Amino acid sequence: MVTELLFQRDSYLRRFESTVMDLRSGGVILDKTAFHPMTGGVADDTGWLYLGNVRYEVRSVVLEKDSGEVIHVLDTTEGLSPGATVIGELNWERRYKLMRLHTAAHILSAVMYDDYGSLVTGGSVEPDKAKEDYDVQGDEKEIFSKAAERVNEIIKRGMEVRIYWLSRDEAMKIPGVVKLAARMPPNVNVLRIVEIPGVDIQADGGPHVRNTIEIGKFLLLKTENKGKKRKRIYYTVEP
Ligand SMILES: [Zn+2]
Repeated sequence: MVTELLFQRDSYLRRFESTVMDLRSGGVILDKTAFHPMTGGVADDTGWLYLGNVRYEVRSVVLEKDSGEVIHVLDTTEGLSPGATVIGELNWERRYKLMRLHTAAHILSAVMYDDYGSLVTGGSVEPDKAKEDYDVQGDEKEIFSKAAERVNEIIKRGMEVRIYWLSRDEAMKIPGVVKLAARMPPNVNVLRIVEIPGVDIQADGGPHVRNTIEIGKFLLLKTENKGKKRKRIYYTVEP
């Protein structure tokens, strides 16, 4: 059974009630969850599940792509069984940092595309920092320093981050979303769209902040030259 992803409707949901559907791989599958699994290059959430007074630690969260089930890997599954009602609670400090970095990643990719025609070829968002590779030529220090300035300008504008759903056909009409949507499996008929108006629009499944101002300051940590057309950036957000 597909686990309903509550964070896709509300990235700020920190506590929720849910039902255990099954036990698997050292964890539980819930009917619905606010825990974001490791997917889309964004790290998974951690936190806790409560069964009455008993607290379980959620150590990692895994999406089973074929079934759409989300496994919450726990310190122990003792006492848990299908049908049990549990309360889930996120490690919010970790999640909020991931949200800020994730929205920052979208802005950076938009700036790199607009200013250099460069596409992101890989990357990851972890709670302490993000890293991405771009297919761009030139002095990576100079390119990423300029891009960081542009990202900070956009953050300071305090722009709303809009999340909504579009049919596949409607989404395909939007320039920029098309290539992403085309990569989606054909059975996905409704796409979740994340839009920072005038800056970026993407089909995307992960949690984001509501307004760019929440990101704080975008901070370039390190750059690396990984090849003629492959430059890496490490960055974080402050405070
Ligand atoms: Zn994303």
